[in-house]
Amino acid sequence: MAQNPPDIRPDRAQARLERDLSTVRPGAQPTIGMVSLGCPKALVDSERILTRLRAEGYGISGDYTGADAVIVNTCGFLDSAKAESLEAIGEALAANGRVIVTGCLGAEPEYITGAHPKVLAVTGPHQYEQVLDAVHAAVPPDPDPFVDLLPASGVKLTPRHYSYLKISEGCNHKCKFCVIPDMRGRLASRPHKAVMREAEKLVENGVRELLVISQDTSAYGTDWRDREAKFPILDLARDLGQLGAWVRMHYVYPYPHVRDLVPLMAEGGVLPYLDIPFQHAHPDTLRRMARPAAAERTLDEIAAWRAACPDIVLRSTFIVGYPGETEAEFQTLLDWLDEAQLDRVGCFQYENVEGARSNALPNHVADEVKAERWARFMEKAQAISERKLAAKVGTRIDVLVDSVDEEGAICRTKADAPEIDGNLFIDRNLGGISAGDILTVDVEEASEYDLWGVPAGSESSHAT
Ligand code: SF4
Repeated sequence: MAQNPPDIRPDRAQARLERDLSTVRPGAQPTIGMVSLGCPKALVDSERILTRLRAEGYGISGDYTGADAVIVNTCGFLDSAKAESLEAIGEALAANGRVIVTGCLGAEPEYITGAHPKVLAVTGPHQYEQVLDAVHAAVPPDPDPFVDLLPASGVKLTPRHYSYLKISEGCNHKCKFCVIPDMRGRLASRPHKAVMREAEKLVENGVRELLVISQDTSAYGTDWRDREAKFPILDLARDLGQLGAWVRMHYVYPYPHVRDLVPLMAEGGVLPYLDIPFQHAHPDTLRRMARPAAAERTLDEIAAWRAACPDIVLRSTFIVGYPGETEAEFQTLLDWLDEAQLDRVGCFQYENVEGARSNALPNHVADEVKAERWARFMEKAQAISERKLAAKVGTRIDVLVDSVDEEGAICRTKADAPEIDGNLFIDRNLGGISAGDILTVDVEEASEYDLWGVPAGSESSHAT
């Protein structure tokens, strides 16, 4: 079966985790290793678990062999992600032998223990206390007031200058291809004050970019019974926008009230970037997916957003080869993309996921047809991206520097979320540039997904 290419999978956070764990040095206290699979939301869970462990005096190890036990935070979104989780558990067992499993796949403990009976414990998503209990049982803590000091911003697995900010858990929708509501439960939004406190602390500790995540960001707060505002996400976005950091909104469902978010982007409080999962464009496919608001006229919405904020960058994800997708439905999606001219696009070939209602739908699409549609879709998306980036050559834009070494600096523009979008590379005139800086850059070159430039005002800057 054709695989979804790794670079568009949302469930690949391990490379980043390995890189960032190397900065948390184990001391003499017991050490715990962590393998984090899955989406940014799972990465936030891993950060919370490690923050608690660090606060209790545990050291954090970047490899299996140096650890007294290993936590594997699993992903169960697609069957291929489940297989990858089982593989990671097997690897950790072989290398370390003392393994605690948590995360989405932990909602199916027999599936894990059937394949790996030697795991020490299995806990489900967000069961932080149970994970800690399992760690305490496997490796009792050895508290030491001189080494237990928790960094003020917690243990962060993302570079210090950006951080994910989880504002709610769960989802009240029932999209047929998705088992997340079964695994993560109904929408439960964190209080506005708690989110703001965390965000303020992060910014005080040097975070320059906050990446707002949840399963359904635009629904934030709609689960509060006695709420004052109809759509609390608007107040939260406005308040986050006052903190002086870049604020990037992910997983915003295209409800009509998103129109009220866009003016905040035009004013500059929130980045003009919407990560909005459309999944498809044909009304029949969307109905078979049971997507809420399937009948919304998304092209009209996009036009309204662009009218209110001409610089807005739209990122979305799509599923091709959904059960029953006809060539005509797929063609509608291609035509829609032609009109929508989205800036950033990810695309999955449909896969059955155990427990998903879409498995039982008739007329599953053959693997080779899915692969062929995926290639056609990506070809179009790439051409749009290439054209849009070419138009940036010769302009001057702000970038956030993610890393610098002797070969150059890897940066992101306001249009690029970390890990999933492109980069702007600077390969000369690097003097004085550090990770976390925000610079103005003259754009000199573009490819399909990335840009190259030099700091504005430097000698070889050719911007007009
Ligand atoms: S909106 Fe749909 S796809 Fe997204 S988490 Fe909820 S049920 Fe799953």
